[in-house]
Amino acid sequence: MSDREIWVFAQHADGRPADPSLEALSAARKLADWQNGTVTAISLGPGARNLVAALGEHGADRVIVCDDTRLSGYAPEATVHLLADLVRGRAPLAILFGDAGLGNDLAARLAARLGCGFAPHCTSVEPAVELPSQPGFVVKRLAYNDKLQITLAGAQIITLQREAVEIKRAPRAPQVEEVALAIPTEAVRLQIGETLKADPRTIPLAQAEFIISGGNGVRNFAPLWALADRLGAAVGGSRVVCDDGRLPRERQIGESGTTVSPRCYLAFGISGASQHLRGMQDSKLIIVVNSDRHAPLMKLANLAVVADAEAVIRAMVERL
Ligand SMILES: Cc1cc2nc3c(=O)[nH]c(=O)nc-3n(C[C@H](O)[C@H](O)[C@H](O)COP(=O)(O)OP(=O)(O)OC[C@H]3O[C@@H](n4cnc5c(N)ncnc54)[C@H](O)[C@@H]3O)c2cc1C
Repeated sequence: MSDREIWVFAQHADGRPADPSLEALSAARKLADWQNGTVTAISLGPGARNLVAALGEHGADRVIVCDDTRLSGYAPEATVHLLADLVRGRAPLAILFGDAGLGNDLAARLAARLGCGFAPHCTSVEPAVELPSQPGFVVKRLAYNDKLQITLAGAQIITLQREAVEIKRAPRAPQVEEVALAIPTEAVRLQIGETLKADPRTIPLAQAEFIISGGNGVRNFAPLWALADRLGAAVGGSRVVCDDGRLPRERQIGESGTTVSPRCYLAFGISGASQHLRGMQDSKLIIVVNSDRHAPLMKLANLAVVADAEAVIRAMVERL
């Protein structure tokens, strides 16, 4: 086994690797190329074998497969048991997880089980260039509501923030290794009773890809919730509307709320005070509806609509 082997946990759904896992794979490939090392992807659960080609396409030299049904869905005990056994036996240099559903959960559990360094939500992972003789990595992550960037060295288990790394093709034909899960029955204490689908409107704002946000220009939030339901968007708002209870506090966006960077931020009746802007200015597409064309948020908008917010919301609900 190479002492410069980097592993990637390959989460999958609908027969293909999840994008965050491909991001982690691309990061691992770059690190391995730099260190003349290899990349191993770990693909677990029913259908795990079907991922081999896609993982090879994105840079895996080897794929470890275990298609045991006890690893399907949310099975942290069995998954961590298997991963810990594999890591103890083979000692990879590092294990990368994408920031997808299970990734952070499993990475934290695995780090605790192995007693090794853990760096979650990293925005970059680079070789430790100042110590080229010692393979290892330096990671960066944001802290204190993204106000501070921390640099860490020595972590062996790393999760990468969504879209921190670009997915790149690096085709090769990976070796496939099948392994068996040997876990005592009594070690599996968690039984999944029912799986409930999350309401996209109330998912954590930092994870939302599409946010509909309301400010003081929206008096009645019921139609805004209805619009978010139609569009599958998360609901957020300015501090003013969270202060007076029009929205729950955890939906506040801005300096003293949550920092967001969705693909689309659709704002109704929000002025664009600096404290609000600091929390959403990295949104990819910003659409603003405001009755005042000179409102500061209108200047940041990719599309600015001068109109009554509630009238636009009602019209959209009727048409969708
Ligand atoms: C320390 C500190 C921290 C703060 N942190 C945050 C924070 O994290 N997040 C945050 O949002 N704020 C924060 N604030 C508050 C911030 O300064 C603003 O007061 C707040 O963002 C204003 O919210 P708003 O734009 O919804 O309301 P307003 O400033 O009242 O603006 C309402 C907007 O709606 C428009 N409007 C009115 N009627 C209509 C209509 N019928 N149709 C369309 N548009 C209409 C108006 O033209 C106006 O632009 C903070 C303030 C301080 C001092």
